Amino acid sequence: MSHPHPELGAPPKLPEGGLRVTPLGGLGEIGRNMTVFEYGGRLLIVDCGVLFPEEEQPGIDLILPDFTSIRDRLDDIDGIVLTHGHEDHIGGVPYLLREKPDIPLIGSKLTLALIEAKLQEHRIRPYTLEVAEGDRERLGPFECQFIAVNHSIPDALAVAIRTPAGMAVHTGDFKMDQLPLDRRLTDLPAFAKLGEEGIDLLLTDSTNAEVPGFVPPERDISNVLRQVFASADKRIIVASFASHVHRIQQILDAAHEYGRRVAFVGRSMVRNMGIARELGYLNVPAGLVVDVKTLDDLPDDEVVLVCTGSQGEPMAALSRMANRDHQIRIVQGDTVILASSLIPGNENAVYRVINGLSRWGANVVHKGNAKVHVSGHASAGELLYFYNICKPRNLMPVHGEWRHLRANAELGALTGVPKDRIVIAEDGVVVDLVDGIAKISGKVQAGYVYVDGLSVGDVTETHLKDRRILGDEGIISVFVVVDSSTGKTVGGPNLHARGSGIDDKDFDAVVPKIDEALAKAAQDGVAEPHQLQQLIRRAVGKWVSDNYRRRPMILPVVVEV
Ligand SMILES: [Zn+2]
Ligand SMILES: [Zn+2]
Repeated sequence: MSHPHPELGAPPKLPEGGLRVTPLGGLGEIGRNMTVFEYGGRLLIVDCGVLFPEEEQPGIDLILPDFTSIRDRLDDIDGIVLTHGHEDHIGGVPYLLREKPDIPLIGSKLTLALIEAKLQEHRIRPYTLEVAEGDRERLGPFECQFIAVNHSIPDALAVAIRTPAGMAVHTGDFKMDQLPLDRRLTDLPAFAKLGEEGIDLLLTDSTNAEVPGFVPPERDISNVLRQVFASADKRIIVASFASHVHRIQQILDAAHEYGRRVAFVGRSMVRNMGIARELGYLNVPAGLVVDVKTLDDLPDDEVVLVCTGSQGEPMAALSRMANRDHQIRIVQGDTVILASSLIPGNENAVYRVINGLSRWGANVVHKGNAKVHVSGHASAGELLYFYNICKPRNLMPVHGEWRHLRANAELGALTGVPKDRIVIAEDGVVVDLVDGIAKISGKVQAGYVYVDGLSVGDVTETHLKDRRILGDEGIISVFVVVDSSTGKTVGGPNLHARGSGIDDKDFDAVVPKIDEALAKAAQDGVAEPHQLQQLIRRAVGKWVSDNYRRRPMILPVVVEV
């Protein structure tokens, strides 16, 4: 098994007849999944997703894969295969299509409907090719075959990519629920056939590789939901992912059974459920779903609200309800169900929301106190089955943080994949399949690209560091006017603080130190404003550190007259 190679440089030219696989996201993180396949000078992309920011990335809306390594090869792309409609697989598409709008998108009916709705908001009309399980399509030199997989969104597909270099199979996200609501199983017979033919490189979902055993069936949740519905005598508010059609189907079924009406709240929830319903993925009994405004006329025990915000996202409906910043006001006796996972990193935000809701008197049902969630990703037991069925010649764990990738590699090894044929790569690491053997050959740029408001890629790590300092320590500005001929101070210094916890009048103590530093500079013949600013920053920084043990941002401005 391979280890991180910080020393890797740009990969050499791909040998004739080789297949190159470059993950631009999703390896080392859960999010922004994107893999580039290259054969004979042509490129095929599988997924193009986003990663959601964490607390140490203040102000960031989304994180994209870095397109630098393919930017001057956009004409070589034969298509983007989208395995399913989750944001971590499709959310980056609008940003790639902004650079070249006519790259064809290939995906299932639901996946394409979800990405088309998203692209409409970006005013892009894509070229699409709808495929279904069993279909084969030739995209440039890539012979693609699509295979049904079960996941926490309907209509997910794996893709087998045949080239003269061999066959690569990308599972996308999958699990092996044997009793899915739509009876669309992960097509193990198809995978077995591919295994017989010979899978030269298998790229597999690692998310739950550390979790032993099997994921319980989605339909197990329905009994838990019914118990909650049976005992609730006021409103029920359910938060879930806006794409989890089967979870929401079970909520609709429970509501129907207990004589309640349902309203969808929040833009993405309303939009996605509209699409799912229209395309026949969501089965809604007549009269069950109503507009949120009609709910006011119904008694509390006939009301269900389905909203987003199960991850504690501050702008989503649920957080705003917890903060009394939403038209729906939580009252004593309401039941709130968080029918979703708790994505690592979101714990604080989610518990803050649960506490907020509890404070207003809601009874909060969540993953921690009831079985209202099952994962969408295969656990270790399922992965072992899968490897024994697929018998991959080379294995490359994808979709996971390092611990997930390693655990997944270990499972592959247990089933007999030779350790030297298991490639643990990370974002940007280039893997070449040549003569049936997969090997790391180099590394391309694959850092975070930040989306903040309308700007893409303008915000850098340095900016984020500044934001963290501003957030943690505040800022002190120092304004000084100097006479450019003599270097003497003729105005100021004026100091102002924001967020540093230091009162402006306390700065009287530091003014002599600044004057002293400037006088010395004048004596030494230092008059360049930038140098003076550095002197001021040092003097003020030392004073704040000595007296307050703090390190706020210090912003000196020297104006010459
Ligand atoms: Zn997914
Ligand atoms: Zn995913």
